[in-house]
Amino acid sequence: MSTIDKVLDGYSAKVFKNRKAHIGEISEEAPELTSNVRTIPGIMTNRGCCYAGCKGVVLGPLKDVAVITHGPIGCGFYTWGTRRHKGKSDENTQNFLEYCFSTDMQEGDIVFGGEKKLKQAIKEVVELFSPKSIMICSTCPVGLIGDDIHAVAKEAEALYGIKVLAFSCEGYKGVSQSAGHHIANNGLMKNVIGTGSYVPKKFSINLLGEYNIGGDGWEISRVLKKIGYDIVSVMTGDGSYEELKSAHTADLNIIQCHRSINYIGEMMKTKYGTDWLKVNFVGVDGTIESLRSIAKYFGDEDLIERTEEIIAEELQDIEEYMELYKNKLTGKTAALFVGGSRSHHYQNLLESLGMKTLLAGYEFAHRDDYEGSEVVPFMKVDADSKNIEELKLEKDPEKFRLVIPEERYAQLKDEIALNYYGGMEKSMDKGAIVVDDLNHYETEEFLKLLKPDIFFSGIKDKFVAQKGGVLSRQLHSYDYSGPYAGFKGAVNFARDVTMGIYTPAWNYTVAPWKKEPILEGTLGGVV
Ligand code: SF4
Repeated sequence: MSTIDKVLDGYSAKVFKNRKAHIGEISEEAPELTSNVRTIPGIMTNRGCCYAGCKGVVLGPLKDVAVITHGPIGCGFYTWGTRRHKGKSDENTQNFLEYCFSTDMQEGDIVFGGEKKLKQAIKEVVELFSPKSIMICSTCPVGLIGDDIHAVAKEAEALYGIKVLAFSCEGYKGVSQSAGHHIANNGLMKNVIGTGSYVPKKFSINLLGEYNIGGDGWEISRVLKKIGYDIVSVMTGDGSYEELKSAHTADLNIIQCHRSINYIGEMMKTKYGTDWLKVNFVGVDGTIESLRSIAKYFGDEDLIERTEEIIAEELQDIEEYMELYKNKLTGKTAALFVGGSRSHHYQNLLESLGMKTLLAGYEFAHRDDYEGSEVVPFMKVDADSKNIEELKLEKDPEKFRLVIPEERYAQLKDEIALNYYGGMEKSMDKGAIVVDDLNHYETEEFLKLLKPDIFFSGIKDKFVAQKGGVLSRQLHSYDYSGPYAGFKGAVNFARDVTMGIYTPAWNYTVAPWKKEPILEGTLGGVV
């Protein structure tokens, strides 16, 4: 019986059929997994909700926006400071990241409607904080009781003269955080991007889908700026409403997390002609390849040369450490289960440290994240996600422009991943397992059967794994370490993994009397 069959064997016939379609093994052909469909009730998924994807992931990191959670207190409270998207303010930029704004709905608001309370909350936020923008995020009850948050936002915008946006991201929409990403992308595209007037410098880019967890975005920006790029906006780690308005003026969008922001990438391509390039700043090889691809897009000889100089300089700084950790980690094995992009991004870093990936999976990825952009025309939206708006955009008559001529575009497309993402499966070794929406039963079973040296996942299953004697490092929060991106981040990651694997406590997970007898004595002179 294969490993997958052994795990599936624990299910009833109905659940077996469902889960079988979400699990596959890499062979000659990349498996076509079922993904982005509803979770089986009661199966202990790791997924979150639409509100988490919209407020927690995409909008939350915008430091100069006061994001008001419209709902009972739980949703706001549990997203208060729990995702480590860092943001620094300066004399020109407001920063509300340490706050949690909530309307704290009570029974009366459910019965008589919460619009009055929302208006009062907006008034208080304006009076106390004077933000340039307020964004309102709906939680589950809001859609059910029919509060018109969009009308409240419109009224507040006129009343206070600041940008007030509403996002109908009730937790029950779609099947996971993914729907929330889409809703946030639509709102920013419709109301923010394209409204600014920044005049970019040479080699201008937007960094999309980078949320500055543990300072990742700062490390990436440090290198990009050293090479000479003008970063017009970051979506959205340490990003701001002010910067985002002028995103359409940049020459290129580089995309780190494809799942959460590909909608903006595609919509900007249609509306403004901006190309997007899938990059991966996790791992030394990924970072080098990404930097070379960006330089190739601009095709400027000096920029290409400068890129190589910086790569050499950065490599020199980290080589000794990477070698040291590689010696410690070569031959170790890993399993990864993260949201919608990291399970892929970290594989090249693990490989460069001599580690093998045995299993990788996503909570809320879609088919193209597994199999690549080529499957997009064949992807179907099921009934659970049909209520998420698909914006139909057209060329902006004034702001649309092609940065590179069409004939060069055709040639470049063969050389770099322009407006294309290859997905996770192609870069995985044969025999490795891919799982969509892994649940707690499957986690425990796969860990028992595969016995990886390390399981990269999140806070909900970290201690389940560790109580079973398997080291688990969080790849959402980095276990409060980081940055892990870029050159210096690779060293931090390698150091943390080495420390975890070589922690002496792992030698003490089995009591000594279970391994060897502790009573010794003699009987008639015989030991
Ligand atoms: S599912 Fe609903 S109640 Fe739960 S966190 Fe999301 S919005 Fe809040």
